[in-house]
Amino acid sequence: MPRFTAKLFYDLAIWMLGLGLLIGLCFPFFVLALGVASERAMSLGFFLSTLTAGLAAGAANFALARWVIRPRLNLLSKHMWLVEGAIEGAAFSGDWSSCNLEKCRVPVDSRDEIGEAARAFNDLVAALFRAHEVETAVSEFSQALSSQLELDSLASLALTQLLRHTGAQAGVVLFENSGELAVAARHGIREPERLAESDHLLEVLRSGETLKIELPEDMHIEVLLADVRPREILVVPVAFKQVSLGAVVLASNRPFTPEAEWLTALFRQGFGLALNNALAHERLQRMAALDPLTGAYNRRFGQGRLTEEFNRAVRSDLPLALLMMDLDHFKSINDTYGHLVGDRVLDRVAKAVRNAVREGDILVRFGGEEFMIILPGSSRDDAESVAERIRHMVEDTRIKERDQQIRVTVSIGGVSYPQTEVEAEEELLRVADEFLYTAKNRGRNQVAISG
Ligand code: GH3
Ligand code: MG
Ligand code: MG
Repeated sequence: MPRFTAKLFYDLAIWMLGLGLLIGLCFPFFVLALGVASERAMSLGFFLSTLTAGLAAGAANFALARWVIRPRLNLLSKHMWLVEGAIEGAAFSGDWSSCNLEKCRVPVDSRDEIGEAARAFNDLVAALFRAHEVETAVSEFSQALSSQLELDSLASLALTQLLRHTGAQAGVVLFENSGELAVAARHGIREPERLAESDHLLEVLRSGETLKIELPEDMHIEVLLADVRPREILVVPVAFKQVSLGAVVLASNRPFTPEAEWLTALFRQGFGLALNNALAHERLQRMAALDPLTGAYNRRFGQGRLTEEFNRAVRSDLPLALLMMDLDHFKSINDTYGHLVGDRVLDRVAKAVRNAVREGDILVRFGGEEFMIILPGSSRDDAESVAERIRHMVEDTRIKERDQQIRVTVSIGGVSYPQTEVEAEEELLRVADEFLYTAKNRGRNQVAISG
């Protein structure tokens, strides 16, 4: 159809009036053919009246069309403008509460082209909402990741976000730690450690490709999952610069949507970078806190821990014991076998001490061949028996050097708070040191505890 003007209704008016004129012009010839006398049919008066009637019919047609269609088009465009304004406002303010998917849609009241236009507009709004959701999820996720440097809090934050945005109910974050997979965070998984042994997981780590496992409805993996009967499991590898760092496992009781899978793929890249940073941070922290020769804490870190533990003991009214240990005649070991062998002896003694103490006890290399051992929650008697155990275990240790076996003994001084009343942790150190010298003076390979 040729267009005459820029406005649809003007074009419609031109077409309808033109059609009316044409009918008005043709009508006299039509009545002539029907046998009306030519002087009547071809008279100017008859021509004028058929033309007027044609024009009037055209005008009436146009008015009707305008009356029926225009209000609905107006309604549609008014709604579209309202929705457009609301979305624009929300995009700039970040507050989408006034424009959710229900509020921001135009009514569809007919099954014609106008209804189709309304429906297409609503689909467009829905697609816009989905895009907005993805954008929010991704920015929330990167914000969360960049705010965390500690491995545990990073992993649990990442897992919470992943569960929320993928609709999964359970999940676990695993990371590679000296060649083994360790659990960094979990939710709803009963025995996450067992997942680390799964062939699926190892396959994902090898290939670097996400794996989706669909489970039959009647299958129940109760061992692994506490509250979910999963229908699908996503195993997502996490890597940084092609180096595998670990994996995220997500379990859902309904199939993952394509959006959820797509989001997971987006998350995985950011998470790889953040996990790499957290692991590097942890390594650095460990390096800064540990003595490289013995793996015990270094003096600076150890003194910080002593302050913390002393404050905790005072606050919660719990005992705290401190041991100071020094190798006996260590100089002669160095002199006899050399420094390298002396280093090996120090390492073995540290191992023996670690085997003799509990998990929460803290071994510190205080200097040279002198160690401090912090025993939270230990009374004077506990301290004495731990010290004796250490002394025995060191005494029983044999260090092989060529065809010889080196033996070494230790002297230990100890103190326990509050049995020995002190104001500050330095006093504990001073008393323990004093009793170490008592043990040395009594002939070495001895334990001397204050109180
Ligand atoms: P005592 O029973 O009185 O403690 O005698 P000792 O020989 O152990 O005491 P002394 O303080 O005279 O000697 C400590 C020695 O420990 C001297 C030093 O060479 C050695 N030493 C300190 N740090 C290290 C180390 O990191 N490696 C080695 N191989 N030796 C060390
Ligand atoms: Mg010594
Ligand atoms: Mg010494």
